[in-house]
Amino acid sequence: MSAAEDPGPPSPPPRLRVAVVGAGPAGIYTAEALTRQQEVPVAVDLIDRLPTPFGLVRHGIAPDHPKMRAIRDTLHRALDHPAVRFVGNVEIGRDLSCRELHAAVDAVVYTYGAALDRQLAIPGEELPGSLAATALVAWYTGHPDADRATVEAALAGARSVVVVGVGNVALDVARVLARTPAELEPTDMPQHVLDALAGAPVERVTVLGRRGPAQATFTTQELRELGELAEADVLVDPADLELDPAAEERVAADRVASRNLAVLQEWAQHTAQPGRTTVTLRFFSRPVRLLGEDRVTGVEVERTVVDADGRASGTGQTTVLPADLVVRSVGYRGGELPELPLDPRRGTVPNDLGRVLRGGEPSPGEYVAGWIKRGPTGVVGTNKHDARETVATLLADVAAGVVRPGSSGDDDLVTTLRANGADPVLLEDWRAIDAAEVALGATRGRARTTLHEWESLLAAVKDAAARTR
Ligand code: NAP
Repeated sequence: MSAAEDPGPPSPPPRLRVAVVGAGPAGIYTAEALTRQQEVPVAVDLIDRLPTPFGLVRHGIAPDHPKMRAIRDTLHRALDHPAVRFVGNVEIGRDLSCRELHAAVDAVVYTYGAALDRQLAIPGEELPGSLAATALVAWYTGHPDADRATVEAALAGARSVVVVGVGNVALDVARVLARTPAELEPTDMPQHVLDALAGAPVERVTVLGRRGPAQATFTTQELRELGELAEADVLVDPADLELDPAAEERVAADRVASRNLAVLQEWAQHTAQPGRTTVTLRFFSRPVRLLGEDRVTGVEVERTVVDADGRASGTGQTTVLPADLVVRSVGYRGGELPELPLDPRRGTVPNDLGRVLRGGEPSPGEYVAGWIKRGPTGVVGTNKHDARETVATLLADVAAGVVRPGSSGDDDLVTTLRANGADPVLLEDWRAIDAAEVALGATRGRARTTLHEWESLLAAVKDAAARTR
């Protein structure tokens, strides 16, 4: 055979081009699972609306939980993988439609989470001074879309706070509000957040559970931490801890519930110490109305009973708790992305093992993982298993020929986005933001201060680019 006829080495198999929408834990674990499998070579574009990765690890995990937030370092390894490209500052539905994205890659995995709050649906819910936990958490973690004016107006002058819900987010909120400025100083909270919290004269935080301690959804480590605050005491009414036979059975069968109960029983012996903030956990208490004219002044609370199936119902017996600030921490729900189906009741995208269902039928090449797939449950690590399940489904579709690597052509997604007028923030740009946050922290002797405005985040990128030019 002459040299001209030599076909040379076989060309490598085409890469499976995947866009992952949402660079929070679910998206990052999806990218990681794609790069770890050996069945097909991949190229992953990990897209986020924000110019920063990590989703709820950055804007959800409480800033006073530095060990939990350190999972960023582990997640960063997936971002650093050569087959993964971080594409921040790009909103699917605005900069590119779902259909355009789908046409640009071989498969799309939506991992955009559940960013909306659930409503209480009671009178007075919309009064000034009533905040969704999502709004407060966004503010204290420095989310660039946080509604600073509303949150700071609600917080100003607040002495009595009622937090509705007994999940881990409710505990985060209660803990952050009851901490002293010195306890919060080492966090990466923006300076205006530290200042506003230091200026809020919070004396009493009451956390309301509509069911009993046996049904609370917080976990023991998070609960215990409430008892370790520098200048706050936790109080529990011993009568709330008396269990009926059904609750006793539940506690006996559930290790978390039984450990929680042991912690609560210890606190039930506490009394308030003069001059210290109190955090009171009240069970069998559901809010029926927020009181006030121009802003919240109190919460009308109804005593409940819980039946053998764990369902709460009102007894008609009500009391009023004074409150200057009410934080509704009753769960998150997923929002709609134009062109993507959503089950409005569950706040999730209908799916089968991660395969998006349209009209009950699998939609080739479209997948979901994380909270938008299963709802807002579990801890960060839960998303690892969840993402692997979705990637296994995607690979099964590749093996079955439903998804074909290379079928989307060669156009580069970032080039397409730039042509559409978008300004994608890539990994080196995120590194510039990261460095700017560390530098800002250093000006006040802190390890990092979160940049909380779009302008400052994007300016950090531009400044770094100008320096290297
Ligand atoms: P969650 O655990 O589902 O808690 C929601 C709470 O709201 C429950 O106590 C629920 O009570 C209550 N609730 C719902 N509707 C209500 C209503 N109409 N009136 C009164 N109360 C109502 O959700 P979350 O706290 O938002 O947390 C979301 C997820 O993130 C969870 O998986 C959580 O563990 C996780 N997370 C983990 C950490 C951590 O590990 N440190 C921190 C934050 C969040 P019922 O049970 O009676 O419905």
